[in-house]
Amino acid sequence: MENCIFCKIIAGEIPSPRLYEDDQMIVIRDIEPRAKLHYLCMPKVHFATLKEMDDARAEIVKHIFAVIPTLEKELGLEEGYRVVINQGTNGGQTVPHLHIHLLGGEVLGGF
Ligand code: AMP
Ligand code: ZN
Repeated sequence: MENCIFCKIIAGEIPSPRLYEDDQMIVIRDIEPRAKLHYLCMPKVHFATLKEMDDARAEIVKHIFAVIPTLEKELGLEEGYRVVINQGTNGGQTVPHLHIHLLGGEVLGGF
């Protein structure tokens, strides 16, 4: 998708070290962390919100949620973490490419 910052990261046009990558997804560090540890997990295919889900995309999202727990130790999230998916304007979504925030590394307040 043209002009999508996350598609550009996935394509390697914007450098961002991948903490995990497979054929369907990548995990990167959030550039403006909101917690001591803040990661973004995203599908390689571009779609913006859960509203655009179809069977193929649901399989990818399922895959991402299956991978996340396997990365807990490596990402320093063994003590727990918060999973956030912002949706649309009221949800505070700023990048219209579906992504799952993982926040941790400390006890999180404010929920
Ligand atoms: P959201 O507000 O839920 O759409 O989340 C977008 C997130 O992407 C924000 O937390 C930003 O800090 C993060 N972000 C934006 N640009 C980059 C980038 N180049 N590398 C890593 N994270 C980014
Ligand atoms: Zn995209």
